[in-house]
Amino acid sequence: MKRRRSLLYQVYPAYLVAILIALLMLSVAADRVFRDTLYAEKEQELQRIASIGATALALSSVPGEGEAERVLQLLGGIGKRLTIIAIDGRVVAETDHDPSGMTNHRDRPEVRGALAGAPGIAVRQSSTTGEKTLYVAVPVVHAGSVSGVVRAATSIERLDHISREIRTALVVPAGIILLAAALMTAIIIARVHRPLTTIRDAALRYAQGDLAHRIEARGPEEITAVAATLNGMAEQLSATIAGIRDQRNELEAVLASMVEGVIVVDAERRIRAMNSAAQRLFGKEDVDFQGRSLIDHVRNTDLDRFAGEVLETETYAEQTITLYRAAPVYIQVHGTLFRQGEERETRVLLVLNDITRLKQLEVVRRDFVANVSHELKTPVTAILGFVETLRDGLPEDPRQAARFLEIISVHANRLNLIIEDLLTLSRLESAEAGIEVNECPLDMVINRVLETCADQASQKNIRIRSHLEGDSIARVNENLLEQALVNLVNNAIKYSGEGSTVEIITRNDRDALTFEVRDTGQGIPAGDVPRIFERFFRVDRARSRELGGTGLGLAIVKHIAMAHGGEVTVESTEGLGSTFRLRLPRT
Ligand code: ADP
Repeated sequence: MKRRRSLLYQVYPAYLVAILIALLMLSVAADRVFRDTLYAEKEQELQRIASIGATALALSSVPGEGEAERVLQLLGGIGKRLTIIAIDGRVVAETDHDPSGMTNHRDRPEVRGALAGAPGIAVRQSSTTGEKTLYVAVPVVHAGSVSGVVRAATSIERLDHISREIRTALVVPAGIILLAAALMTAIIIARVHRPLTTIRDAALRYAQGDLAHRIEARGPEEITAVAATLNGMAEQLSATIAGIRDQRNELEAVLASMVEGVIVVDAERRIRAMNSAAQRLFGKEDVDFQGRSLIDHVRNTDLDRFAGEVLETETYAEQTITLYRAAPVYIQVHGTLFRQGEERETRVLLVLNDITRLKQLEVVRRDFVANVSHELKTPVTAILGFVETLRDGLPEDPRQAARFLEIISVHANRLNLIIEDLLTLSRLESAEAGIEVNECPLDMVINRVLETCADQASQKNIRIRSHLEGDSIARVNENLLEQALVNLVNNAIKYSGEGSTVEIITRNDRDALTFEVRDTGQGIPAGDVPRIFERFFRVDRARSRELGGTGLGLAIVKHIAMAHGGEVTVESTEGLGSTFRLRLPRT
């Protein structure tokens, strides 16, 4: 863009030229008036002298050369050059020169004027003296007709000289006036120019976003008023912007802290906004999403199609989509259409909820119900079967009847065990928020565990060794801890060979209370280790049942650990044995 010239450059020269023209016109006018006045005075004087000469000549009856000479002698003392010219233009007499050497004057403009009957005036270079001369010629009227001309002349070289002097005298004050005007104009312009520049610079800073800047403009009232208005405007603008920024930050904070993923797309399905939860869902934390198409960015055709449907139907919609990862991720999407801004541009708001855990829980619940039914079905079927047999008629052999009753009793016991374990689990789940804990002596708890498991151990000729390190007092729920240890030791005995050793190592230090139950039994296949604490999970279902297991023992241990804020883990090598570690933190 062409740079515009500043105010100073635009106004200043014009101003100076105007002043210069005014001064010039003034001096020309002054000069003219002066000259005109001087000329008029000279003319009148000459006319008066010539008229006197003409009157004197007219009074003599016959104007001859002698008469003319006399009149000239009479008037010669006045100091003006006088010429008497006959009607034919011949010079009859002359004060300053010899008339015989002079040319015919008939064609001189002033003479021609006088011969016509009125005074003639002319200014020119005299052919006789060579000076610039003013001539006034007057007719000599005798007996009603022009009989000759009397011409008076004077050099006006001096007049021109005076006029030149006047002009020179005017130049100095005009120059001073011009200088003074130039100086004052410069001062005035500077007084306006400086605050205007300050305001212009401030306006530029505002445009660049620096709204904290304030203008300190001094100068004419109009300009300080503009500065004050601009300051007020900047203040208001920065307050408005701060308000908008706060709102936006708040909105961003809300969006960022949301668990739900939020994506906003436009009518072309280009991403306009995406919160961090959504970015995490699609594994795009560090990828720029602005303006990218939804399908390109998230690479999920179901979500893209869903957004398309909302755009088309312009109604609220809901759908579950699946992201195929190592483990499938289920996402429930809610889509709403809204319009934004003055242009009422179409936007689709997609809210994404990760419902994978819910789905998993649903699966767990379904499996659990199926498992419970299945577990209960076997003993119930057995009991019903034998009751039915007995009802059909008691067997002859009383030992047979006793066997039947024994079987019924075993299955009823099993039912009882399963129900008791389920109740324990259910109680633990509902008490997870808080269980009662008391100071209790660990050695006594371990002794009771040993007593409980003694029979079972001795049946397999298994030795149980116990070792306690650290403080023997701990804050735990005594009964639950005892149950957890009994379950672990029970399992260790159940899944170990005859004559082996089971160890209970207890460590009670500052951070935590840890129990390790070690056996050298069959161990657990590596693939089953992650599922070992699930309800009803068993490596070998039939064998577990044979050994009187419910498949709930480890699930109960896990829940007891969780109720104490702790955890249970396992290290196992198939064929070599297992170590279960129950860790309860001190807090
Ligand atoms: P169960 O009543 O069947 O013992 P648990 O929940 O106590 O149920 O254990 C689940 C499964 O974990 C068992 O069926 C068994 O396969 C395996 N298991 C538990 N403890 C041990 C152990 N000490 N050694 C080998 N396998 C074990």
